[in-house]
Amino acid sequence: MRLILLGPPGSGKGTQAALMKEQLEVPTISTGAMFRAAIQNGSAMGRQARGYIEKGELVPDDITMGIVRERILKSDCDHGYILDGFPRTVRQAEMLQEFLAERDEALDAVLKFDVSDDSLIQRLKERSRDDDTDQTIETRLRVYRKQTEPLVDFYSRIGLLKEVRGMGSVQEISRCIRETLGF
Ligand code: AMP
Repeated sequence: MRLILLGPPGSGKGTQAALMKEQLEVPTISTGAMFRAAIQNGSAMGRQARGYIEKGELVPDDITMGIVRERILKSDCDHGYILDGFPRTVRQAEMLQEFLAERDEALDAVLKFDVSDDSLIQRLKERSRDDDTDQTIETRLRVYRKQTEPLVDFYSRIGLLKEVRGMGSVQEISRCIRETLGF
């Protein structure tokens, strides 16, 4: 199954991606985690991405699509994958569609997590990541609304969007996802 998890920072995508990976036996591809690993390793790509991440802004589309393409081409993705945090712009979504079409592949669904602003801010303040300061939290939510939310329309128009309630316990949300996707 090829899936996209779509939702603002703090909407629980990462937590659910980890559960779904076990249930569906496909890898999770988290661009945020890949960028953080690249920064840790001190790679050239990490150095390019770092400034954007620290400010809560998006890494340029070409760099981001580059790491996703490279990851999807690995053989463990042959039977599907869960994209967590990608795409985040309409341009990235278009590039992904082009990449899939070249390979005669298609997405199965885009799961959109619905979470209120209050619970998002609460959750982001509870976790302790370097890029979770008050200032970057605000920037990342603003960036989401402006650059990523248009993807709801993009995927809805091609019939792939499925919405799930992203509030409640981890187990409740997980059940809702399984019902929605039918697994
Ligand atoms: P995340 O762990 O998904 O919250 O991502 C952390 C940071 O990595 C984001 O705030 C962005 O700076 C960067 N990032 C992650 N995914 C993307 C993407 N698809 N496009 C651009 N930047 C990204």
